Amino acid sequence: MYHYRRRLTREVTFGSIQLGGYQPIRVESMTNTHTMDTAATVEQCRRLYEAGCEIIRLTVPTEKDAENLRNIRDQLRCDRIDTPLVADIHFSARAALKALEFVENIRINPGNYAARQKFTNSEYSAADYLQELEHVRLEFIQLVEKARQYGVSMRIGTNHGSLSDRIVSRYGNSPEGMVEAALEFARICEDTGYFDILFSMKSSNVRVMIQAYRLLVQKGDAELHYPYPLHLGVTEAGDGDEGRVKSAMGIGALLEDGLGDTIRVSLTEDPVNEVPVGFAIVKKYNDFHLVNGDRGHIPLKHLVESRNQKAIDTPHAQHQLPFNPFSYQRRVSSRIMLADLPVGADTVPKVETELHASLSNGDAVFAEVMKRIAPELPQDAIRSEFTSVRVNNPADLELLDDLLDKLGESARFIVASTSDISLLVPLLDKVTKVRLDIVEGEQLGKDLFQHLGNDRLAALELCFMHEHAGNSVPAEVLAHLAEKLQKQGVQRLLFSVITNNAVFVYRRLVEAFNRRSLNYPLVVRFKGDTSNRLETLIENSVQTGTLFCDGIGDMLALYTRLSVDDEVSLAFNILQGARIRMSKTEFISCPGCGRTYFELEKATASIKERTAHLKGLKIGIMGCIVNGPGEMADADFGYVGAGKNRISLYVGRECVEENISELEAVNRLIALIKERGKWVDQVKATI
Ligand code: SF4
Repeated sequence: MYHYRRRLTREVTFGSIQLGGYQPIRVESMTNTHTMDTAATVEQCRRLYEAGCEIIRLTVPTEKDAENLRNIRDQLRCDRIDTPLVADIHFSARAALKALEFVENIRINPGNYAARQKFTNSEYSAADYLQELEHVRLEFIQLVEKARQYGVSMRIGTNHGSLSDRIVSRYGNSPEGMVEAALEFARICEDTGYFDILFSMKSSNVRVMIQAYRLLVQKGDAELHYPYPLHLGVTEAGDGDEGRVKSAMGIGALLEDGLGDTIRVSLTEDPVNEVPVGFAIVKKYNDFHLVNGDRGHIPLKHLVESRNQKAIDTPHAQHQLPFNPFSYQRRVSSRIMLADLPVGADTVPKVETELHASLSNGDAVFAEVMKRIAPELPQDAIRSEFTSVRVNNPADLELLDDLLDKLGESARFIVASTSDISLLVPLLDKVTKVRLDIVEGEQLGKDLFQHLGNDRLAALELCFMHEHAGNSVPAEVLAHLAEKLQKQGVQRLLFSVITNNAVFVYRRLVEAFNRRSLNYPLVVRFKGDTSNRLETLIENSVQTGTLFCDGIGDMLALYTRLSVDDEVSLAFNILQGARIRMSKTEFISCPGCGRTYFELEKATASIKERTAHLKGLKIGIMGCIVNGPGEMADADFGYVGAGKNRISLYVGRECVEENISELEAVNRLIALIKERGKWVDQVKATI
């Protein structure tokens, strides 16, 4: 919960490599060619291999595709490409049985493997349930026996959107259902003495995905023979920055928890693009292992002890956690007004950015502030709501006055930051919020109480500058100050830490506040140290997105070397990915695979261009009718591949237009959105 240690899992073999145990976290990708097209598939595998991809998955819809894996494998091995291959199976037990003759690992979906009923939403009695399970067991056991015979490992890969009717009837479409679906198959494996398994629990909803993996680990480690490896991924993450941000948040949140042995970043792009993103996500954790060796893992004996203690099963133990790891609840905070915007409680988290220019730069400062706060835009548009200006000395106070005069009405969006406590009182008279950066807690406490009267006007944010202090130091200092100020009756307070280790520092902070029943709002601040754009997207998404997914945070402030537009866009992408502030359309688009028979990337780009402004709407863009409708989960509208150059359109789960031509499908989707009253005309909504 408070520092990184990786969960030690059973090592599982994938042909020439292993994963789990003390092995590095492996990066996987998946081809999107037709598996019957040997030349195209081999060529894409070669490009993935050259990009460094460690595991390559191929879709296997039919027995014929399975048979063709032989040709693909032979050609690759002939070309000295020995990357382990994974056969991805949905529904077809016959395809699975054939495929595992030619691959190193097989992925089955417990939601549809050997299922007799396909998404009919039938009611299952207890007897029906057992009967269906027995049918699955008899089918599945044949695959398990053959996998053992061929030395092939197996991923039991649950997807949120494609649970079996049997599971949904008992557990609903929930993380609990996802976990039970996987455990049913794992029990069959263990009963037959087959232990070469790993799990995945994917969802396009980042929060659901995180919760499902955590729950699987809790339940699986308590029940199964071994702690099995995990393959992590956010499914249907989309493309571009949004896809990268969502993937980094979901995968990174679990890696921070010490969970995960292999990952796949699913992008609706060329699969080769997934590889560098995957390596950028796992780098920090693999580097940690290089430095710390085996000490970087939680020893198995601790897992056994926690299994015996059922450490977080009791209500008392859960009460002490800074958040509920298994279900989303936003941290309870008080609501305060900054300018005319509410912050905290159940209001959407606001975004603050820091001015790069110094106050002495006069007109340049004014221009930069106007660009950031863009006061002409609506309150909920994508733009920085507050801009922080640095005030270092008394001379800066006059410069600040000049700036505020020039800004007129817009001056209310300015907040000031200083580390000089003597400037606190004058600043509190001038701006909406003052951030006081502190390092020495105790001495500051006394000084602060002398300076702070209750007649002050602005809100005060106390911010600990966390450089190399332990994770618990800022938490204890700030909680101590907060307690004193609360006793004085000071209400307009916020707290934050500027840190490059936000996940663990803020968890400590929340725990320290909870212990003292303090509910002041928190500003999540993160300052990384990279200038690389991809690394910036990833570390900010992991470190702040994880917190928002767990209900922690009332404002977001990033410190990056990106342009203003890019930084603000990243902040909003993180809040959207955590589903706490929807500022544009949510796209749930799959990466495509051998089941896709239309131009998925082109259609996605076209749909995004025309509908990205429909705030709050969710649009699923899925490559195939086999898995698409289930996996686009809670999308309001769906654009789903239905055959060669054919598309079916959905409203919710209902198919309303079948097999229309790809050429007219995007226009039909727009018309459908209009017919259903969900269209608004586009207004300028970016900075
Ligand atoms: S939904 Fe997309 S990725 Fe999944 S099987 Fe269908 S085409 Fe392939």
